[in-house]
Amino acid sequence: MLLERLSNACGISGLEHEVRDLLKQELAPYVDEMWTDAIGNLIVRKGSGPVKVMLDAHTDEVGYCVGSITEEGYLRLKKIGGLDDRVLPGRQVWVTNRRIPAVLGAKAWHLCSAEERGKVIPFDQMYADMGCQSRKEVEELGIEPGDPVYFATTFEHFSEKVVKGKAFDDRAGCAVLAEVLMKHSHPGLTLYGAFVTQEEVGLRGARIAAYNLNPDVAIALEGTGSANVAGVDPFDTITNMGEGPAISLMDNSAVPNLRVWEELVRVAKANGIKYQHRRIVGGGTDSGGISLQRSGIPVCTVSTPCRYIHTHAALLNLDDLYGAVNLVHHFLLSVEKGDFRP
Ligand SMILES: [Zn+2]
Repeated sequence: MLLERLSNACGISGLEHEVRDLLKQELAPYVDEMWTDAIGNLIVRKGSGPVKVMLDAHTDEVGYCVGSITEEGYLRLKKIGGLDDRVLPGRQVWVTNRRIPAVLGAKAWHLCSAEERGKVIPFDQMYADMGCQSRKEVEELGIEPGDPVYFATTFEHFSEKVVKGKAFDDRAGCAVLAEVLMKHSHPGLTLYGAFVTQEEVGLRGARIAAYNLNPDVAIALEGTGSANVAGVDPFDTITNMGEGPAISLMDNSAVPNLRVWEELVRVAKANGIKYQHRRIVGGGTDSGGISLQRSGIPVCTVSTPCRYIHTHAALLNLDDLYGAVNLVHHFLLSVEKGDFRP
């Protein structure tokens, strides 16, 4: 499935070409035009109707890059995007897009004091280990500081509905956007699919895409957290996996345009699409970058809930993902028919 291919593709912020190339190939038969801009955004256009709609999803994922190579042949890493140090040691990673295997190591447990054992290992004390024994051996593999490092996670089905993979933030959004373009036609619209870069480091690609496309209305498609786990107050659960796509109330980057938000809720109710509200106000999405372009662009974020987001292995329920496709499709129909005018 497309989500599987997207999740298995590798692309930290600024190095999204693998994801972009995959999307180009998948979408070519379904769109009227496609181009890549200077920051690496892949823009596709479908239709040439009077109302311009931009659907956004970011192609980059959180990960690392090589910071330096030690004399002993270990890689010291820099983080790209927000990563949780608690879940890192012992994880397998891939070095470069050639996917050279490595493991995230740290000082042996046996050598740690009782106090150290009770604490999270600081990231600056971890390294990636490819099994090399010297800097020379690493350099002979063609590894340079700046090279990307990814979670070595292969997509798999836990059940018919629930899948596991890396980078669901935001390959889930990329999959929703691609599915909308592949399954549905809205000839009354100029529909732009903006597969944008560098979201995880400051919503950068989306700003440029929104400025250039200057849409009448936009939707940012995301993979967001889902935290209905033991010990979390229901008030703080963000979203619940399996309870439908999430419509954002607000986050640190944006308050959605109220009319767009209300229309998403209305079309969900009118078409019997299960949905939920994203219940915390932290984090940020491309909506923040889009909303501030030109004289202000009406935008709202629609997300697929993902457990363990920004880790090596997230889970999502495919019903939520296809629910998001359905919700966006009905929103587009409403704009196309003139029921909703941005
Ligand atoms: Zn994201």
